[in-house]
Amino acid sequence: MSPHEGDAPQPAPAALPSPGGPPLAGLTLDELRDVLVEMGEKPFRAKQVYQSVQQRGVIDPGEMTNLPTALRERMAATIRPATQLVETQASEDGTTKFLFQLADGKRIESVLIPEAGRNTVCVSSQVGCPIACVFCASGVAGLIRNLTVAEIAEQVLHVRAHLGERPSHIVMMGMGEPLLNIDNVIAAIRLWMDRDGLGFSPRRITVSTAGTPSKVDRLAESELGVNLAISLHASDDETRGRLVPGSPSGRTRGLIDAGARYARSTRRDVTVEYVLIAGENDAPHHADSLASLTAGRHIHVNLIPLNPVTHRPDLKAPSGIAATGFANRLRDYGVSVTLRTQRGEDIAAACGQLALERSLSEE
Ligand code: SAH
Repeated sequence: MSPHEGDAPQPAPAALPSPGGPPLAGLTLDELRDVLVEMGEKPFRAKQVYQSVQQRGVIDPGEMTNLPTALRERMAATIRPATQLVETQASEDGTTKFLFQLADGKRIESVLIPEAGRNTVCVSSQVGCPIACVFCASGVAGLIRNLTVAEIAEQVLHVRAHLGERPSHIVMMGMGEPLLNIDNVIAAIRLWMDRDGLGFSPRRITVSTAGTPSKVDRLAESELGVNLAISLHASDDETRGRLVPGSPSGRTRGLIDAGARYARSTRRDVTVEYVLIAGENDAPHHADSLASLTAGRHIHVNLIPLNPVTHRPDLKAPSGIAATGFANRLRDYGVSVTLRTQRGEDIAAACGQLALERSLSEE
């Protein structure tokens, strides 16, 4: 507890001192064993430490009370977590945002969405984002940097500690473009899936991407078997170039083709996310070309009426009637479609992405 607690306003906490050893939460069991042996410890300690971190979410070595005091103190002297929880913010409907500070002072967010017996955690993969979707707050400042494996993995461990139990689902729909940080994202997913760790089924993990076909193929080659969501938002290159300017141009069909290949390799439908924006991508001809891209290809289309964002007050969601018409037009082509209803104002104001988190967690 801060000695100044209660004094307001408080300056931001100082950045974490730079750690002498690697943050534990980013290490596999083998890597952790190497670190401990290097410190002169017995190899069998590795599993104890690993399970404290990955199963119980104790990311600070100083808090590992199951370890001998000497080992705990030696680790605590040099090893720090990669993230520090700065603030939690609970919304009226139980959605909770977690704000983290990284060792270099940068900040990221995760969101916990409790709903219908599920606890979905929405995880960030980068500080900022290079894709710059016109309706998304994360891309406004561009890409700052990739997150490390520990910075990605610890977000789930913090939420696990907050809940007192493992969250049920993980979606990579926070800040950043996960497939542009694919190595670290895959490493974090492997940690979450490890039976000596949180033991997540890949069916409960979703990677969401606005990114490139070759990276989608790489995710398929990893054979993790996680769910894939493609942030398409447009059905032709011209519109997509406008709404999703940071994605490679001329790749709308290529991205869908990669999604269809992914669906074949995992034998599960891929979700296409399509944020509906009045006058931008909601005309009947947009529905026609979206249907021609997706019908009969194991692709489910998730239509999400835009949540208003402060940096683009000119962008609006279509009327309910227009959105329903767009959905029905797709259905007439045999496309499997979900039209999401608009969310509460407090959530919309807090984070546009929440609409999608909620929508996927309903499935
Ligand atoms: N870069 C990845 C991960 C970010 S999640 C990706 O693009 O998939 C991005 C998702 O958040 C989008 O697909 C969209 O569905 C949702 N989103 C972001 N801003 C939104 C807004 N203002 N209204 C509705 N959905 C939004």
